[in-house]
Amino acid sequence: MNRPKRIAVLGATGSIGRQTLDIIERYPNRYEAAILAAGRRVDDLIALAQKYRPRQVVIADESLLPKLRSALEPLGIATAAGARALAESVEGDDIDMVLTATVGYSGLEPTVHAIKAGKDIALANKETLVVAGDLVGRLLKGSKTKIYPVDSEHSAIAQCLQGEDISSVERLLITASGGPFRTWPMERMATATAADALRHPNWSMGAKITIDSATMLNKAFEIIEAHHLFGIDPERIEAVVHPQSIIHSMVEFVDGSVKAQLGVPDMHLPIAYALGEKQRLQGASKHLSLADYTTLTFEHPDVERFPSLGLAHYCLAKRGTSACTVNAANEIAVAAFLNDRIKFTDIYRIIEHTLKVASFVAEPDYDDYVAVNSESRAKAEEYIACL
Ligand code: NDP
Ligand code: MG
Repeated sequence: MNRPKRIAVLGATGSIGRQTLDIIERYPNRYEAAILAAGRRVDDLIALAQKYRPRQVVIADESLLPKLRSALEPLGIATAAGARALAESVEGDDIDMVLTATVGYSGLEPTVHAIKAGKDIALANKETLVVAGDLVGRLLKGSKTKIYPVDSEHSAIAQCLQGEDISSVERLLITASGGPFRTWPMERMATATAADALRHPNWSMGAKITIDSATMLNKAFEIIEAHHLFGIDPERIEAVVHPQSIIHSMVEFVDGSVKAQLGVPDMHLPIAYALGEKQRLQGASKHLSLADYTTLTFEHPDVERFPSLGLAHYCLAKRGTSACTVNAANEIAVAAFLNDRIKFTDIYRIIEHTLKVASFVAEPDYDDYVAVNSESRAKAEEYIACL
Protein backbone atom coordinates (compact mmCIF):
# COMPACT_ATOMS: atom_id res chain seq x y z
CA MET A 1 0.00 0.00 0.00
CA ASN A 2 1.64 3.28 -1.03
CA ARG A 3 -0.65 5.51 1.01
CA PRO A 4 -1.17 5.59 4.79
CA LYS A 5 -3.41 2.85 6.14
CA ARG A 6 -6.76 4.38 7.14
CA ILE A 7 -7.83 3.41 10.63
CA ALA A 8 -11.23 3.70 12.33
CA VAL A 9 -10.34 4.33 15.98
CA LEU A 10 -13.26 3.20 18.17
CA GLY A 11 -12.84 4.34 21.78
CA ALA A 12 -10.59 7.22 20.70
CA THR A 13 -10.91 9.14 23.98
CA GLY A 14 -9.80 6.17 26.11
CA SER A 15 -6.47 4.78 27.22
CA ILE A 16 -5.94 2.45 24.23
CA GLY A 17 -7.53 4.94 21.80
CA ARG A 18 -5.13 7.73 22.78
CA GLN A 19 -2.09 5.45 22.65
CA THR A 20 -3.22 4.34 19.18
CA LEU A 21 -3.43 7.97 18.12
CA ASP A 22 0.15 8.45 19.44
CA ILE A 23 1.31 5.69 17.11
CA ILE A 24 -0.67 7.15 14.19
CA GLU A 25 0.90 10.55 14.86
CA ARG A 26 4.42 9.14 15.09
CA TYR A 27 4.17 7.19 11.81
CA PRO A 28 2.25 9.57 9.48
CA ASN A 29 3.50 7.84 6.35
CA ARG A 30 2.01 4.58 7.53
CA TYR A 31 -1.22 5.50 9.33
CA GLU A 32 -4.05 7.96 9.23
CA ALA A 33 -7.06 8.29 11.59
CA ALA A 34 -10.06 8.16 9.24
CA ILE A 35 -12.76 7.83 11.90
CA LEU A 36 -12.76 8.71 15.59
CA ALA A 37 -15.55 7.33 17.77
CA ALA A 38 -16.24 7.46 21.51
CA GLY A 39 -18.97 7.18 24.13
CA ARG A 40 -19.75 10.51 25.77
CA ARG A 41 -16.62 12.61 26.46
CA VAL A 42 -17.62 15.05 23.74
CA ASP A 43 -15.11 17.81 24.54
CA ASP A 44 -12.21 15.37 24.42
CA LEU A 45 -13.52 13.90 21.18
CA ILE A 46 -13.80 17.36 19.59
CA ALA A 47 -10.22 18.21 20.66
CA LEU A 48 -8.92 14.95 19.15
CA ALA A 49 -10.82 15.60 15.92
CA GLN A 50 -9.37 19.12 15.67
CA LYS A 51 -5.91 17.62 16.01
CA TYR A 52 -6.18 14.46 13.84
CA ARG A 53 -8.70 15.74 11.25
CA PRO A 54 -10.52 12.44 10.56
CA ARG A 55 -13.14 12.15 7.81
CA GLN A 56 -15.89 11.34 10.32
CA VAL A 57 -16.48 11.48 14.07
CA VAL A 58 -19.12 9.40 15.86
CA ILE A 59 -20.40 9.67 19.43
CA ALA A 60 -22.48 6.91 21.03
CA ASP A 61 -24.53 9.28 23.19
CA GLU A 62 -27.04 10.81 20.75
CA SER A 63 -27.82 13.80 23.00
CA LEU A 64 -24.30 15.10 22.33
CA LEU A 65 -24.62 15.21 18.54
CA PRO A 66 -25.59 18.93 18.28
CA LYS A 67 -22.45 19.96 20.17
CA LEU A 68 -20.24 17.65 18.11
CA ARG A 69 -21.81 18.85 14.88
CA SER A 70 -21.48 22.57 15.57
CA ALA A 71 -17.81 22.16 16.54
CA LEU A 72 -16.76 19.93 13.63
CA GLU A 73 -18.93 20.72 10.63
CA PRO A 74 -17.16 24.06 10.03
CA LEU A 75 -13.97 21.97 9.69
CA GLY A 76 -15.59 19.77 7.05
CA ILE A 77 -15.66 16.75 9.38
CA ALA A 78 -18.83 14.63 9.13
CA THR A 79 -20.55 13.72 12.41
CA ALA A 80 -22.97 11.02 13.54
CA ALA A 81 -24.33 9.62 16.80
CA GLY A 82 -25.73 6.41 18.30
CA ALA A 83 -24.53 2.83 18.65
CA ARG A 84 -25.86 1.86 15.22
CA ALA A 85 -24.11 4.76 13.46
CA LEU A 86 -20.90 3.89 15.29
CA ALA A 87 -21.09 0.26 14.16
CA GLU A 88 -21.92 1.20 10.55
CA SER A 89 -19.12 3.78 10.34
CA VAL A 90 -16.53 0.99 10.05
CA GLU A 91 -18.01 -0.23 6.76
CA GLY A 92 -16.78 2.72 4.65
CA ASP A 93 -14.88 1.73 1.48
CA ASP A 94 -11.92 3.87 2.54
CA ILE A 95 -11.43 2.08 5.89
CA ASP A 96 -8.50 -0.37 5.91
CA MET A 97 -8.52 -1.38 9.57
CA VAL A 98 -10.75 -1.03 12.64
CA LEU A 99 -9.22 -0.58 16.09
CA THR A 100 -11.84 -1.73 18.62
CA ALA A 101 -11.10 -0.06 21.96
CA THR A 102 -14.50 0.78 23.37
CA VAL A 103 -15.32 -0.78 26.74
CA GLY A 104 -17.37 -3.89 27.38
CA TYR A 105 -20.33 -5.19 25.40
CA SER A 106 -20.33 -2.08 23.17
CA GLY A 107 -17.50 -3.66 21.14
CA LEU A 108 -19.65 -6.47 19.75
CA GLU A 109 -21.84 -4.63 17.23
CA PRO A 110 -19.02 -2.74 15.44
CA THR A 111 -16.92 -5.91 15.36
CA VAL A 112 -19.74 -7.82 13.67
CA HIS A 113 -20.11 -5.00 11.12
CA ALA A 114 -16.35 -4.91 10.51
CA ILE A 115 -16.21 -8.66 9.88
CA LYS A 116 -19.22 -8.57 7.56
CA ALA A 117 -17.52 -5.76 5.61
CA GLY A 118 -14.24 -7.75 5.48
CA LYS A 119 -12.21 -5.15 7.41
CA ASP A 120 -9.11 -6.14 9.34
CA ILE A 121 -9.43 -5.61 13.08
CA ALA A 122 -6.90 -4.59 15.71
CA LEU A 123 -8.81 -5.99 18.66
CA ALA A 124 -8.42 -4.42 22.10
CA ASN A 125 -12.03 -4.97 23.18
CA LYS A 126 -11.63 -8.49 24.58
CA GLU A 127 -15.23 -8.46 25.84
CA THR A 128 -16.39 -9.05 22.25
CA LEU A 129 -14.73 -12.47 22.24
CA VAL A 130 -15.89 -13.16 25.80
CA VAL A 131 -19.52 -12.35 25.01
CA ALA A 132 -19.77 -13.93 21.57
CA GLY A 133 -16.51 -15.66 20.64
CA ASP A 134 -18.33 -18.57 18.98
CA LEU A 135 -20.39 -16.22 16.80
CA VAL A 136 -17.30 -14.17 15.87
CA GLY A 137 -15.52 -17.41 14.93
CA ARG A 138 -18.40 -18.43 12.65
CA LEU A 139 -18.52 -15.00 10.99
CA LEU A 140 -14.75 -15.02 10.41
CA LYS A 141 -15.02 -18.26 8.41
CA GLY A 142 -16.98 -16.48 5.69
CA SER A 143 -14.95 -13.24 5.73
CA LYS A 144 -11.55 -11.96 4.62
CA THR A 145 -11.13 -10.16 7.95
CA LYS A 146 -8.00 -10.88 9.98
CA ILE A 147 -7.90 -10.15 13.69
CA TYR A 148 -4.68 -8.77 15.21
CA PRO A 149 -4.72 -8.83 19.03
CA VAL A 150 -3.88 -5.66 20.94
CA ASP A 151 -4.16 -7.17 24.43
CA SER A 152 -0.52 -7.48 25.53
CA GLU A 153 -0.77 -11.18 26.47
CA HIS A 154 -2.32 -12.15 23.15
CA SER A 155 0.14 -10.02 21.22
CA ALA A 156 2.90 -11.86 23.12
CA ILE A 157 1.40 -15.23 22.18
CA ALA A 158 1.04 -14.15 18.53
CA GLN A 159 4.70 -13.10 18.56
CA CYS A 160 5.77 -16.45 20.11
CA LEU A 161 3.75 -18.33 17.48
CA GLN A 162 5.48 -16.65 14.55
CA GLY A 163 7.12 -19.36 12.44
CA GLU A 164 5.58 -22.15 14.54
CA ASP A 165 3.02 -24.79 13.66
CA ILE A 166 -0.07 -24.40 15.87
CA SER A 167 -0.23 -28.21 16.21
CA SER A 168 3.12 -28.14 18.06
CA VAL A 169 1.70 -26.00 20.89
CA GLU A 170 1.44 -27.79 24.23
CA ARG A 171 0.16 -24.93 26.43
CA LEU A 172 -0.43 -21.20 26.48
CA LEU A 173 0.83 -19.57 29.68
CA ILE A 174 -0.89 -16.24 30.18
CA THR A 175 0.92 -14.03 32.64
CA ALA A 176 -0.96 -11.91 35.19
CA SER A 177 0.43 -9.17 37.41
CA GLY A 178 -1.93 -10.28 40.18
CA GLY A 179 -3.28 -6.73 40.47
CA PRO A 180 -3.23 -4.45 43.52
CA PHE A 181 -4.65 -7.10 45.89
CA ARG A 182 -2.23 -9.93 45.04
CA THR A 183 -1.01 -10.13 48.63
CA TRP A 184 -4.20 -8.98 50.43
CA PRO A 185 -6.07 -11.48 52.64
CA MET A 186 -9.75 -12.06 51.82
CA GLU A 187 -11.01 -10.07 54.86
CA ARG A 188 -9.02 -7.02 53.80
CA MET A 189 -10.25 -7.29 50.20
CA ALA A 190 -13.83 -6.96 51.51
CA THR A 191 -12.90 -3.47 52.74
CA ALA A 192 -11.12 -2.36 49.54
CA THR A 193 -12.25 0.99 48.15
CA ALA A 194 -12.46 1.99 44.48
CA ALA A 195 -9.33 4.10 44.98
CA ASP A 196 -7.46 0.99 46.29
CA ALA A 197 -8.62 -1.10 43.34
CA LEU A 198 -7.75 1.60 40.79
CA ARG A 199 -4.11 1.63 41.96
CA HIS A 200 -2.74 -0.96 39.51
CA PRO A 201 0.92 -1.75 40.21
CA ASN A 202 2.22 -1.83 36.60
CA TRP A 203 -0.30 -0.62 34.03
CA SER A 204 -2.23 2.63 33.57
CA MET A 205 -5.56 1.68 31.95
CA GLY A 206 -9.24 2.64 31.86
CA ALA A 207 -11.23 2.20 35.09
CA LYS A 208 -13.24 -0.87 34.06
CA ILE A 209 -10.28 -3.05 33.03
CA THR A 210 -8.36 -1.88 36.11
CA ILE A 211 -11.13 -3.21 38.37
CA ASP A 212 -11.26 -6.41 36.28
CA SER A 213 -7.52 -6.77 36.94
CA ALA A 214 -8.09 -6.37 40.68
CA THR A 215 -10.72 -9.17 40.71
CA MET A 216 -8.64 -11.13 38.16
CA LEU A 217 -11.75 -11.53 36.01
CA ASN A 218 -9.60 -9.81 33.38
CA LYS A 219 -7.37 -12.90 33.36
CA ALA A 220 -10.42 -15.17 33.03
CA PHE A 221 -11.52 -13.04 30.08
CA GLU A 222 -8.04 -13.35 28.56
CA ILE A 223 -8.17 -17.15 28.79
CA ILE A 224 -11.48 -17.07 26.89
CA GLU A 225 -10.02 -14.55 24.42
CA ALA A 226 -6.95 -16.77 23.84
CA HIS A 227 -9.13 -19.81 23.21
CA HIS A 228 -11.09 -17.96 20.50
CA LEU A 229 -8.06 -16.26 18.93
CA PHE A 230 -5.72 -19.24 18.75
CA GLY A 231 -8.09 -22.23 18.81
CA ILE A 232 -6.25 -23.92 21.71
CA ASP A 233 -8.34 -26.19 23.98
CA PRO A 234 -9.29 -24.51 27.28
CA GLU A 235 -7.52 -27.14 29.41
CA ARG A 236 -4.24 -26.16 27.72
CA ILE A 237 -4.52 -22.47 28.63
CA GLU A 238 -3.29 -21.41 32.08
CA ALA A 239 -2.74 -18.20 34.00
CA VAL A 240 0.60 -17.64 35.78
CA VAL A 241 1.10 -14.76 38.21
CA HIS A 242 4.21 -12.75 37.29
CA PRO A 243 4.14 -9.55 39.36
CA GLN A 244 6.79 -7.64 37.38
CA SER A 245 4.75 -7.67 34.09
CA ILE A 246 7.91 -8.01 31.97
CA ILE A 247 7.08 -11.36 30.40
CA HIS A 248 3.79 -10.68 28.62
CA SER A 249 2.95 -14.36 28.05
CA MET A 250 4.55 -17.64 27.01
CA VAL A 251 3.93 -20.58 24.71
CA GLU A 252 5.09 -24.08 25.64
CA PHE A 253 5.67 -26.48 22.73
CA VAL A 254 5.39 -30.27 22.54
CA ASP A 255 9.18 -30.70 22.70
CA GLY A 256 9.31 -28.93 26.09
CA SER A 257 10.59 -25.60 24.75
CA VAL A 258 8.98 -22.45 26.13
CA LYS A 259 9.03 -19.16 24.22
CA ALA A 260 8.32 -15.90 26.04
CA GLN A 261 7.90 -12.33 24.82
CA LEU A 262 9.39 -9.65 27.05
CA GLY A 263 9.19 -5.87 27.10
CA VAL A 264 8.46 -2.95 29.40
CA PRO A 265 4.77 -2.68 30.33
CA ASP A 266 3.79 -0.27 27.55
CA MET A 267 0.74 -0.79 25.32
CA HIS A 268 2.30 1.20 22.46
CA LEU A 269 4.21 -1.94 21.48
CA PRO A 270 1.27 -4.37 21.07
CA ILE A 271 -0.81 -1.59 19.46
CA ALA A 272 1.93 -0.92 16.89
CA TYR A 273 2.41 -4.66 16.26
CA ALA A 274 -1.34 -5.02 15.58
CA LEU A 275 -1.59 -1.93 13.34
CA GLY A 276 1.48 -3.15 11.47
CA GLU A 277 -0.06 -6.62 10.95
CA LYS A 278 2.87 -8.23 12.78
CA GLN A 279 5.48 -5.92 11.24
CA ARG A 280 7.82 -4.34 13.78
CA LEU A 281 8.11 -0.56 13.90
CA GLN A 282 11.37 1.11 14.88
CA GLY A 283 10.96 2.87 18.24
CA ALA A 284 7.36 1.83 18.92
CA SER A 285 8.07 1.45 22.64
CA LYS A 286 10.73 2.16 25.26
CA HIS A 287 13.42 -0.52 25.37
CA LEU A 288 13.76 -3.02 28.19
CA SER A 289 16.83 -2.92 30.39
CA LEU A 290 16.89 -6.33 32.05
CA ALA A 291 19.55 -5.14 34.49
CA ASP A 292 16.84 -2.95 36.08
CA TYR A 293 15.01 -6.11 37.14
CA THR A 294 17.01 -8.20 39.54
CA THR A 295 14.35 -10.91 39.71
CA LEU A 296 11.46 -12.15 37.61
CA THR A 297 9.12 -14.25 39.74
CA PHE A 298 6.18 -16.58 39.11
CA GLU A 299 3.34 -17.84 41.32
CA HIS A 300 0.27 -20.01 40.96
CA PRO A 301 -2.87 -17.84 41.02
CA ASP A 302 -4.99 -18.15 44.18
CA VAL A 303 -8.48 -19.12 43.02
CA GLU A 304 -9.79 -19.04 46.63
CA ARG A 305 -9.11 -15.33 46.96
CA PHE A 306 -9.78 -14.60 43.27
CA PRO A 307 -12.79 -16.83 42.45
CA SER A 308 -13.49 -14.86 39.24
CA LEU A 309 -10.51 -16.58 37.67
CA GLY A 310 -12.39 -19.88 37.78
CA LEU A 311 -15.12 -18.45 35.55
CA ALA A 312 -12.98 -18.87 32.41
CA HIS A 313 -12.96 -22.64 32.42
CA TYR A 314 -16.54 -22.78 33.73
CA CYS A 315 -17.78 -20.70 30.76
CA LEU A 316 -15.60 -22.47 28.20
CA ALA A 317 -17.09 -25.80 29.35
CA LYS A 318 -20.70 -24.58 29.50
CA ARG A 319 -20.43 -22.29 26.42
CA GLY A 320 -23.66 -20.82 24.97
CA THR A 321 -24.48 -17.48 26.60
CA SER A 322 -22.75 -18.19 29.94
CA ALA A 323 -19.83 -15.81 29.35
CA CYS A 324 -22.22 -13.19 27.92
CA THR A 325 -24.02 -13.25 31.29
CA VAL A 326 -20.75 -13.09 33.24
CA ASN A 327 -19.68 -10.05 31.23
CA ALA A 328 -23.04 -8.29 31.60
CA ALA A 329 -23.25 -8.88 35.37
CA ASN A 330 -19.65 -7.77 35.75
CA GLU A 331 -20.20 -4.51 33.86
CA ILE A 332 -23.09 -3.67 36.19
CA ALA A 333 -21.19 -4.77 39.30
CA VAL A 334 -18.02 -2.84 38.40
CA ALA A 335 -20.04 0.35 37.77
CA ALA A 336 -21.79 -0.14 41.14
CA PHE A 337 -18.44 -0.68 42.90
CA LEU A 338 -16.95 2.44 41.30
CA ASN A 339 -20.00 4.37 42.58
CA ASP A 340 -19.49 3.00 46.12
CA ARG A 341 -22.79 1.08 46.02
CA ILE A 342 -21.30 -2.34 46.76
CA LYS A 343 -18.22 -3.93 48.34
CA PHE A 344 -15.32 -5.20 46.20
CA THR A 345 -16.09 -8.81 47.13
CA ASP A 346 -19.73 -8.34 46.07
CA ILE A 347 -18.61 -8.19 42.41
CA TYR A 348 -18.12 -11.96 42.28
CA ARG A 349 -21.34 -12.62 44.27
CA ILE A 350 -23.32 -10.59 41.74
CA ILE A 351 -21.83 -12.50 38.81
CA GLU A 352 -22.46 -15.86 40.50
CA HIS A 353 -26.07 -14.94 41.32
CA THR A 354 -26.77 -13.60 37.81
CA LEU A 355 -25.42 -16.82 36.27
CA LYS A 356 -28.00 -18.74 38.35
CA VAL A 357 -31.03 -16.63 37.42
CA ALA A 358 -30.44 -15.39 33.85
CA SER A 359 -31.72 -17.31 30.82
CA PHE A 360 -29.20 -19.63 29.16
CA VAL A 361 -29.19 -20.19 25.40
CA ALA A 362 -27.03 -23.15 24.34
CA GLU A 363 -26.63 -22.21 20.65
CA PRO A 364 -27.14 -18.46 20.52
CA ASP A 365 -27.45 -16.29 17.44
CA TYR A 366 -26.78 -12.55 17.48
CA ASP A 367 -30.26 -11.66 18.79
CA ASP A 368 -29.90 -14.16 21.64
CA TYR A 369 -26.70 -12.44 22.80
CA VAL A 370 -28.50 -9.07 22.68
CA ALA A 371 -31.41 -10.43 24.73
CA VAL A 372 -29.28 -12.31 27.29
CA ASN A 373 -27.01 -9.29 27.72
CA SER A 374 -29.90 -6.99 28.56
CA GLU A 375 -31.70 -9.53 30.76
CA SER A 376 -28.48 -10.30 32.69
CA ARG A 377 -27.83 -6.60 33.28
CA ALA A 378 -31.36 -6.17 34.63
CA LYS A 379 -31.02 -9.23 36.94
CA ALA A 380 -27.68 -7.96 38.25
CA GLU A 381 -29.23 -4.54 38.96
CA GLU A 382 -32.17 -6.17 40.79
CA TYR A 383 -29.77 -8.16 42.97
CA ILE A 384 -27.68 -5.08 43.79
CA ALA A 385 -30.82 -3.29 44.94
CA CYS A 386 -31.35 -6.13 47.49
CA LEU A 387 -27.79 -6.17 48.84
P1 NDP B 1 -11.11 3.55 28.67
O1 NDP B 1 -12.16 3.57 29.71
O2 NDP B 1 -9.87 4.30 28.91
O3 NDP B 1 -11.72 4.06 27.29
C1 NDP B 1 -12.89 3.52 26.79
C2 NDP B 1 -13.29 4.15 25.48
O4 NDP B 1 -14.52 3.56 25.06
C3 NDP B 1 -13.55 5.65 25.59
O5 NDP B 1 -13.20 6.23 24.38
C4 NDP B 1 -15.07 5.70 25.78
O6 NDP B 1 -15.66 6.90 25.35
C5 NDP B 1 -15.51 4.58 24.87
N1 NDP B 1 -16.81 4.02 25.21
C6 NDP B 1 -17.26 3.64 26.43
N2 NDP B 1 -18.50 3.16 26.35
C7 NDP B 1 -18.87 3.26 25.04
C8 NDP B 1 -20.04 2.93 24.31
N3 NDP B 1 -21.10 2.41 24.91
N4 NDP B 1 -20.03 3.14 22.99
C9 NDP B 1 -18.96 3.67 22.38
N5 NDP B 1 -17.82 4.01 23.01
C10 NDP B 1 -17.78 3.80 24.32
O7 NDP B 1 -10.80 2.01 28.37
P2 NDP B 1 -9.46 1.31 27.89
O8 NDP B 1 -8.88 2.09 26.76
O9 NDP B 1 -8.63 1.00 29.05
O10 NDP B 1 -10.00 -0.09 27.36
C11 NDP B 1 -10.65 -0.22 26.11
C12 NDP B 1 -10.75 -1.70 25.74
O11 NDP B 1 -9.43 -2.21 25.57
C13 NDP B 1 -11.41 -2.57 26.82
O12 NDP B 1 -12.14 -3.59 26.22
C14 NDP B 1 -10.22 -3.17 27.57
O13 NDP B 1 -10.51 -4.42 28.14
C15 NDP B 1 -9.22 -3.32 26.43
N6 NDP B 1 -7.82 -3.32 26.85
C16 NDP B 1 -7.28 -2.22 27.45
C17 NDP B 1 -5.96 -2.21 27.87
C18 NDP B 1 -5.34 -0.99 28.46
O14 NDP B 1 -4.12 -0.97 28.71
N7 NDP B 1 -6.07 0.08 28.71
C19 NDP B 1 -5.12 -3.40 27.72
C20 NDP B 1 -5.77 -4.50 27.06
C21 NDP B 1 -7.07 -4.45 26.64
P3 NDP B 1 -15.97 8.13 26.37
O15 NDP B 1 -14.86 8.17 27.34
O16 NDP B 1 -16.02 9.28 25.44
O17 NDP B 1 -17.27 7.86 27.03
MG1 MG C 1 -4.10 -7.95 28.97
